[in-house]
Amino acid sequence: MTVPALPLNDGRTIPQLGLGVFQVPPEQTAEVVGTALEVGYRHIDTAQMYGNEKGVGDAIASSGIARDELFVTTKLNNSNHRPDDVRRSFDESLEELGLDHVDLFLIHWPMPEAYDGDYVSTWQAVAELTRDGRAKSVGVSNFEPDHLERIISETGVVPAVNQIEVHPRFGNEAARTASLERGILVEGWSPIGRARVLDDPVITTIAERIGRTPAQVTLRWHIERGDIVFPKTMHRARMEENFGLFDFTLSPEDVLAISALDQGAEGRLGPHPNNLNRW
Ligand code: NDP
Repeated sequence: MTVPALPLNDGRTIPQLGLGVFQVPPEQTAEVVGTALEVGYRHIDTAQMYGNEKGVGDAIASSGIARDELFVTTKLNNSNHRPDDVRRSFDESLEELGLDHVDLFLIHWPMPEAYDGDYVSTWQAVAELTRDGRAKSVGVSNFEPDHLERIISETGVVPAVNQIEVHPRFGNEAARTASLERGILVEGWSPIGRARVLDDPVITTIAERIGRTPAQVTLRWHIERGDIVFPKTMHRARMEENFGLFDFTLSPEDVLAISALDQGAEGRLGPHPNNLNRW
């Protein structure tokens, strides 16, 4: 199964499918990521906040897979937004991962009312990490349209991606559109809505008709819309299931039917980014 590589606005590319490791316990992470690498995953999404960067790095080190075949993302912890802390925190992430570079480094949350409302100097410091190649690409996560507008207008640097909550019950269309209009790719987090959308009759009916599982149909919906996904699972069988997205398509009508499940703000699983200002 070949995973498409999508072009980023900085000239690099990103695999459209990966494995997310939020809530994978640190002591199990090396085994879980090792299994994913065996299955064929080459893109891993972690974060300093998840506490499992070391397990990701250990799995990579023992996999024997060439570094340039892998795409590793980590994220700045919410407690480290001051520019000096950005640099220190980034060094710590590389150390934990045992890598000399990451492919993508993100501001995890904008924290718009913390740090005297200053997430711009945070973004400037993150952007500067590309200068010596230790961060190949940089981006943001959970940025609302006004947050994007502000960092771009005040620094002139456009993020490569915006990683935001997106699943059938929460299309997050305003943030999605604001990203895409600026040439920023969308990474959809909780892409299967933490498994809560998998028994939706619209999704199960499509799945039965085309002979795929509800998770595959849901993940393929994101792929059809051009977004990047990294569903989390601890289980090999589900890793294989979630990886099987590129030998079928959904009709435009089925894509629209799944998009119509959007419940707006009611469908959100995580906090609104404006409301997360503590750590
Ligand atoms: P997901 O939508 O990926 O759902 C994960 C849940 O679904 C787990 O309980 C998993 O259980 C289950 N699952 C996975 N595959 C299947 C399947 N095929 N059939 C049935 N159940 C399945 O939610 P996440 O919140 O984990 O999001 C994915 C990733 O997004 C995270 O790991 C992280 O990388 C990123 N993320 C980023 C955030 C941010 O703020 N930037 C916030 C939240 C997530 P099991 O493990 O037991 O298989």
